[in-house]
Amino acid sequence: PDTHRVQDRAAETGARLELGSLALPAVPGAFHGTPDTDLSTAANQEWAAGITHRIRGSELGVEESRAARLTTTDEVETTVQAALAAQPAWAAMPVEKRALVLRRVAGTLAAHRAELLEVMASETGKTFEQGDPEVSEAIDFALFYAEQAERLAARRDLALTPRTLTLVTPPWNFPVAIPTGGALAALVTGSAVIMKPAPQARRCGALLGRLFHEAGVPEGVFTLVDVPEDEVGRSLIAHPRFDQLILTGAYDTAALFASWRPDLRILAETSGKNAIIVTPQADLDLAARDVALSAFGHAGQKCSAASLVITVGSVSRSRRFNAQLADAVLSLEVGEPVDPTVRMGPIIEPPGEKLAAGLTELGEGETWLAEPRRLDEEGRLWTPGVRIGVREGSAFHRTEYFGPVLGIMHADTLEDAVRMQNGTDYGLTAGLHSLEPSEIAWWTEHVEAGNLYVNRGITGAIVQRQPFGGWKRSAIGQTAKAGGPHYLLHLQDLADSASVP
Ligand code: GLU
Repeated sequence: PDTHRVQDRAAETGARLELGSLALPAVPGAFHGTPDTDLSTAANQEWAAGITHRIRGSELGVEESRAARLTTTDEVETTVQAALAAQPAWAAMPVEKRALVLRRVAGTLAAHRAELLEVMASETGKTFEQGDPEVSEAIDFALFYAEQAERLAARRDLALTPRTLTLVTPPWNFPVAIPTGGALAALVTGSAVIMKPAPQARRCGALLGRLFHEAGVPEGVFTLVDVPEDEVGRSLIAHPRFDQLILTGAYDTAALFASWRPDLRILAETSGKNAIIVTPQADLDLAARDVALSAFGHAGQKCSAASLVITVGSVSRSRRFNAQLADAVLSLEVGEPVDPTVRMGPIIEPPGEKLAAGLTELGEGETWLAEPRRLDEEGRLWTPGVRIGVREGSAFHRTEYFGPVLGIMHADTLEDAVRMQNGTDYGLTAGLHSLEPSEIAWWTEHVEAGNLYVNRGITGAIVQRQPFGGWKRSAIGQTAKAGGPHYLLHLQDLADSASVP
């Protein structure tokens, strides 16, 4: 397939009113943060059909065996010791050499784009439409951290020393970009990395491990492990030789790991319950589209996803927005991830208790604008669900469902809307649709979230342009944002009295 067409959409993206782009200079042409696999071409459709065939025939899966399977605490110990033994030589290299390895990883990822999309689709149900920009994001992380590492090394006011051993525990919902970002950030500082992919995304992790090693990351310096979630798993996570943990996952998981090792430095991006406010000053067509895509991209399984939309004043009363949103949502084709017409693929596994409630039970005063329908036996394919009349303080207002469910709340004023937007335990992403500068300015001052988006969807943060990370229960530990200028600083120790910005 034609997968090497790299685009620079900086100009186009910058033209939109994004806080990130207002705050940062335009990104020079080297970044890859846009999809570049065009599924409308006949050649690529043929390729996609071939993958569907192979997935159904279960021909994938060989990669899994590449991870070191740790079944005893002795094996955990041996793996940790091997990483400790490999680290000093890696840290002793000039930073330019480690940065070069990262750039080679970027090239290797680009060269294996098709394989990465294939494994993401087959293993986690991610559509090509969603997987393609994810591969681009992984490439961006590699290039960005390589450049950042060199930049930090050149600063005379900072003397940084690497931490010896980093544990990386990525999630299944971004099984390529997030593990790549976390692992490479630590590696480029001179740390050794042990990575435990999410059990639902082992093959994605194993493929990445192979590509990292092919690109020149030495064995031992990066080790991929597969470990059961029992005492053996705990002996890994709680191992005293780890200096830091980079985690993306549920808040409760991060809190549990933190309780096992209270002294451990943690950079964790955790849960979210994110809302987009739509005021009467919004472009309602744009708002309906952005809400639909932010809520139902990857079937809502993103920490950044929109789970609430808060309509203000006349937007609630006119019903026009609801009708537009219903149209946008009902037009999303649901089905197999590799079908090019499909906009929403399956959820990772049949809904657990919490998501099942979100898909089937209405709270007081709520009605369905679009009632979710189950489309398959197993319960992984659902049509998108939209409920209206969600009340402030209700279960739907405050619970993270992590699936294809969206609730509409009504607010009389922008102040009320922001109170509702802030009225959860989390603070990851937040959106505002309004063309009125005074509303944008007021909102920016009062909203409590890590990533703010104006007149844009609230998912798909672009490396460097929108460093990603949250407040409140959307983070644990240090607050450096992934893909931002402070991330590498927070992974290293300062050897003198210089302070981290
Ligand atoms: N960085 C992703 C985004 O901006 C979300 C990551 C996550 O869900 O953990 O959409």
